[in-house]
Amino acid sequence: MNGLFKALAIAALLTFGMAAAQPPSPAQNAAALHARAPRRLVIKNAMVIYGNAKPPYGPVDIVVQDGVISYIGTTSDVPGGARATADATIDAGGKYVMPGIVNTHMHWHEERQPGVAQPIQYERNLYLAAGVTTAREVGGDFDKSKRWQAESNAHTIVSPRILVYPFVSKGRSGSPAEIRAWIRDIKQRGADGLKIIGMDRDQLEAIMDEAHTLGLRTATHIAVEETTAKDYAELGVTSIEHFYGVADAAIHGIQRFPPDMSYSNEIHRFGRAGELYAQADPGRLHQIIDLMVEKHVAWDPTFSIYEASRDLQRAQGQPWFRDYLHPSLEEYFKGSLDNHGSYFFGWTSTQEAKWKQQYRIWMDAVREFANKGGLVTTGDDAGYIYSMYGFGISRELELHEEAGFQPLEVIEHATWNGARLLGMDDRIGKVREGFIADLLIVNGNPLENLKLLNPYGADVMLLNGRPVQNYSPLGAGDKVQAGRGGGIEWTIKDGIPYHVPTLMREVKDMVSRARVHRAQTTAGQ
Ligand SMILES: [Zn+2]
Repeated sequence: MNGLFKALAIAALLTFGMAAAQPPSPAQNAAALHARAPRRLVIKNAMVIYGNAKPPYGPVDIVVQDGVISYIGTTSDVPGGARATADATIDAGGKYVMPGIVNTHMHWHEERQPGVAQPIQYERNLYLAAGVTTAREVGGDFDKSKRWQAESNAHTIVSPRILVYPFVSKGRSGSPAEIRAWIRDIKQRGADGLKIIGMDRDQLEAIMDEAHTLGLRTATHIAVEETTAKDYAELGVTSIEHFYGVADAAIHGIQRFPPDMSYSNEIHRFGRAGELYAQADPGRLHQIIDLMVEKHVAWDPTFSIYEASRDLQRAQGQPWFRDYLHPSLEEYFKGSLDNHGSYFFGWTSTQEAKWKQQYRIWMDAVREFANKGGLVTTGDDAGYIYSMYGFGISRELELHEEAGFQPLEVIEHATWNGARLLGMDDRIGKVREGFIADLLIVNGNPLENLKLLNPYGADVMLLNGRPVQNYSPLGAGDKVQAGRGGGIEWTIKDGIPYHVPTLMREVKDMVSRARVHRAQTTAGQ
């Protein structure tokens, strides 16, 4: 370095230092940091929720170098004085930092109601805003999803990281040789795993054998079939999705369906599905849970996607629909047997009561499965049945708490367990030095209230204008108010910070524009 250049460089450093002495406003900081990759990012004063259910600790500083967590510790220990050399700083004072959420069951949708486009960025923004940094797509448009995966990895799009598990094609209709050839081909084309749905035993044997030979992970939606969770556990599936197949393995004989039952009619299918856990023999249910644990099968219950079945009014009245429900999704949710999951025609109190009973038994089963050592993860399967992308995963976490898990365990399901399910536990799922910087900076402590993770924010109690725990002691003259707070402030993926209020503003704009367009195109009809 020549003398003049050196002098200029020092001058530039000094200028930077002086600018840093007058911190930018939060809005300026957000605009400067959003969706840009800093070389060295320092998150200051963070309380850390590590990911594997050990207690939180802090405050500490977290240094992210080139997308990787390079240092966690107290400020005075930061090697090389990180603050001086950081090119981006986020103050996490009063906030909690946790690993990014792994959504283990989702689908990418560019349209819900046929003919009404839904920009893919709508879904990407909502998932990032809800803290999802890794998304396992279990069935979708393979070629598109592979392209988006590459673009996400290269940071040319704003999106969670994507893993692609395509549906096994011709799993039902092909010969074993055809099925095996298809699996070999899709592996070559970059499949990260396979999604299996509704199989006979011999078909499933061929699929599982080939998947094991090739080292492909498998996720299954068992449905009501010849095969149940018992077959899938015996044959070594990686994860069981939803509630399907588990109670069915514990029923004496077969499911008690009425003679007019048609599985193609979703009113029949989802109405009767809510009766299956009550038909299971409790002793046999314990045995099938034991088998799943013994065979290292994970369970991704997706509690949130069926919730409308137990409380339709709650599902239809979600407050975020007002500003954030895209017209394409809104149309899709309306009752229509042409749309998957839109089966609410005269839904009865008895159907809701049976579903509530089903949830109690199902949740107890998931809790027992975890107590015995089973791996439980969080997926939302949103875009159906009144569940919106992002809001669905946030609700999923609340329902894991309802199932009897502590919030710290729920966060483990959503982070570390997800990483283990995907085989990525050497790089994501923990706030750990050397791990990829997939981090959420949460306004408040999600262990106090998981609703703080909702992109819409949460109700908070204000004591003399400041958010506090609602068990806080009150003094004479204290002013207590109901307020709004919470939400994730920053979702950081691969070290790149995304400002959640900015993502949500963009979503709101997309929805407003689409509504104006809908009003214009339907005005003349
Ligand atoms: Zn699904």
